[in-house]
Amino acid sequence: MCGIIGYVGTSDSSVRVLIDGLEKLEYRGYDSAGIAYFKNGEINIIKSSGKLVNLKNKVDLNDNSNIGIGHTRWATHGNATTTNSHPHKAGKFTIVHNGIIENHEELKKCLEKRGYVFLSETDSEVIAALLDYLYKSEKDMVKVIEDAKKMMNGTYAVGIICDDVKDELYAVRNSSPLIVGFGEKENYIASDLSAILDKTKKYVTLENDDVAILSPENVDIYKDGVKKSYDVKTTSYTDDEVSKNGYEYFMLKEINEQPEVFKRTLLDYVNTSYSNFLDSMPDLTKYKKIRIVACGSATHAGLVGKQMIERFANVKTEVETASEFRYNPLFLDDDELVIVISQSGETMDTLKALERAKENKNDTLGIINARESSIARESDYVLYTNAGKEVAVATTKAYSAQVLVLTLIAMNLAYKKKIFTSDEIRNILTEAKEIPNKMEYVLSDHRYKEIAEKIKDQNDVFFIGRGVDYALAQEGSLKLKEISYVHSEAYAAGELKHGTISLIENQTPVVAVITDDRIAAKTISNIKEVKARGAYVICITNDDYDLSCADEVIKVPKTNDLFAPLLSVIPLQTIAYELAKIKGNDVDKPRNLAKSVTVE
Ligand code: GLU
Repeated sequence: MCGIIGYVGTSDSSVRVLIDGLEKLEYRGYDSAGIAYFKNGEINIIKSSGKLVNLKNKVDLNDNSNIGIGHTRWATHGNATTTNSHPHKAGKFTIVHNGIIENHEELKKCLEKRGYVFLSETDSEVIAALLDYLYKSEKDMVKVIEDAKKMMNGTYAVGIICDDVKDELYAVRNSSPLIVGFGEKENYIASDLSAILDKTKKYVTLENDDVAILSPENVDIYKDGVKKSYDVKTTSYTDDEVSKNGYEYFMLKEINEQPEVFKRTLLDYVNTSYSNFLDSMPDLTKYKKIRIVACGSATHAGLVGKQMIERFANVKTEVETASEFRYNPLFLDDDELVIVISQSGETMDTLKALERAKENKNDTLGIINARESSIARESDYVLYTNAGKEVAVATTKAYSAQVLVLTLIAMNLAYKKKIFTSDEIRNILTEAKEIPNKMEYVLSDHRYKEIAEKIKDQNDVFFIGRGVDYALAQEGSLKLKEISYVHSEAYAAGELKHGTISLIENQTPVVAVITDDRIAAKTISNIKEVKARGAYVICITNDDYDLSCADEVIKVPKTNDLFAPLLSVIPLQTIAYELAKIKGNDVDKPRNLAKSVTVE
């Protein structure tokens, strides 16, 4: 969500670096964009609502400039207009901001009394005015930013340039992500590494409350006004890993990467002789209950995890939406583990939920894809998914890697609690080795597009399933909504007849998932109920049930119940993808959505 890029160097390529960086950050989701740079000593601000191409059309890439800041905005305060886009300038200060300044109204009133006139409806513009106001009586920039920090409540990553200092770039962060990149006689700030990977692999992740001063030759980082030392890290990511690799969309590439991600993530926890499996995870047997807290698809991964942990490891597990967990009564027991799940490790609601669990003195475990992220740093235990960079806003490979890690937690717990014998674990892990091939088989089914064609004119789609298949139905429904913009809902298959079945009309698509043999017969009865009311039924299953009542049957390979969701989710993801494509939507960057939701 929102992208920040900043450059200061001895070359004149600032404008190109900014536009390049913003292109790389597009995947995070945004609704407008802008850049500001010094050219012949004058500040130039160019902004545009809508896609980056609108901004590019206004910009001369050959403009010579050695310093600038750029921004893709995901509006929180004020519509996605050109005026509201960042950068914002007040007096001598120009800023870009990710996050929310909660007390902006109050600050605005104070600053208006002191003569500042605000042009936008954003909360962000007050940052520029506040800095300018403080600078009038204090020229030490670290002090100015520190003083501004003390007056601002909320979350922020801010890039700053000042008319008086044309070879320094400033940055400050509190909760919203920001890194500093180190080049040869040039330095950068960015929301994440992908923005600058083709320029440098050396970086430092700013910590909360850090203030950074960047010049072409030097980077100083301050905490509480005091200069601190820092270690420059080198990433192993390559720029290629964030390219489309011949696929039309990142989402399709990422769906197809799932076999590889499965192999990689499994190998992180299990060696080829399985000898390390017991020790590759923390001992969680002391926790009597588990609370999984997450947002969006990560919550759905958590719902699959709940099924696995309760069924196989016999530990009561509840799943809660992070934005609700933050404000609901907690009811956390002392011996309850809180698991937070986030691809980016920067999801603001999840981060705040984690902080609340920690304040309550509960142990926390993060399941995270992005190393070096805030949630990874703050969790007591971290289990990484090894999905690699995920660019498409709608998650696929990161979701299935989260499901895998939760499944491994269930297995590990069951093993430590002696519910599974070592022979059973060995058999399950031997089966796990087959999963990538079985995924490839599911990926090679060519009917997804055909099915998407058949449902393309419908306004509503329903997804049903029981138990773990209900958890999958919820993810399938979200995927469809996110990218195809077709309304859909997921229901526990047995619940439909208690109300929602009234919405089933002739040809209403109902996607049913049946992988749990213990309750398959019940779901088949529910399919017959909707079929009798005219539904067009697409069934995803892994067994030879009599499904003559369904209009389409997608048969995925049979596997151990622990891994079944990882196969049956693929058709759900791919049907959503194909439908979005047929609708002509921007599959990777669906409207109104952001990849890394760094506001509350
Ligand atoms: N709250 C700010 C705005 O609405 C920044 C949003 C963002 O993070 O892009 O302008």
